[in-house]
Amino acid sequence: MASTPLYPNILSKKGNFCKRSFNWPAKIIGLTGGIASGKSTVGRILSEQDFPVIDTDRLAKEVVEPGKQALEELVKVFGKEILRDNGTLDRHQMLNVILTDADARQLVENIIHPHVFKRMDQILQQLAASGNNIVIVEVPLLFEAGWQDLFDYIVSVVAPEPICIKRLTERKKMSIDMASRWMATQIPQEVKAKRSDYVIHNNAGLDELQIQVDRLSEVLKHL
Ligand code: ATP
Repeated sequence: MASTPLYPNILSKKGNFCKRSFNWPAKIIGLTGGIASGKSTVGRILSEQDFPVIDTDRLAKEVVEPGKQALEELVKVFGKEILRDNGTLDRHQMLNVILTDADARQLVENIIHPHVFKRMDQILQQLAASGNNIVIVEVPLLFEAGWQDLFDYIVSVVAPEPICIKRLTERKKMSIDMASRWMATQIPQEVKAKRSDYVIHNNAGLDELQIQVDRLSEVLKHL
């Protein structure tokens, strides 16, 4: 007898809910990279240079706010243990689940990503309607989610792994073991870089990063 799957109706084909819309800006640039590689810093510099930037990490936080459908779906599958006393998602608890069970991680992504896509789609349509021709979209799990065909060009930020782990342990108060396990759940940075059109090597200080992003910005303006 076949065993009952632990998590029902989950493993949909990656990215199959994603379709480009004719109502999006003409050029959509995906910005991705490893955990703590510097994606948001690059996104911030680009937004200072007047590129509209959508941060899908922020959207992923918004779609699991109390009362939102994605949070209800997560609770239905993982139980109320993933909630704090005040009803918000316990991110640390969720990360623990994700790091100990690859199917659970896939399920969490399959629940959250369609909601993120829907919000991103709405924002892209609004940006196009207000006359924007080019938009940067920061998507940490761009390749893992199978979103690569949504973008005209993809930029990857790559940073040395020990630096990323150090940032994670300092910033998120995470153990080295947890930080390394989290990084291991993602496609290696060098693979992401190979699959990208442009690569930012964030292996020096912020001044050096700024120089590279300035160069990228010039390229993007002339696409
Ligand atoms: P996450 O995966 O957690 O979303 P991220 O890839 O968006 O992270 P950032 O938040 O941009 O990474 O950077 C992580 C931290 O490292 C931030 O505190 C940022 O200020 C710092 N940082 C990034 N690049 C550099 C650099 N070249 N020199 C010094 N600090 C940096």
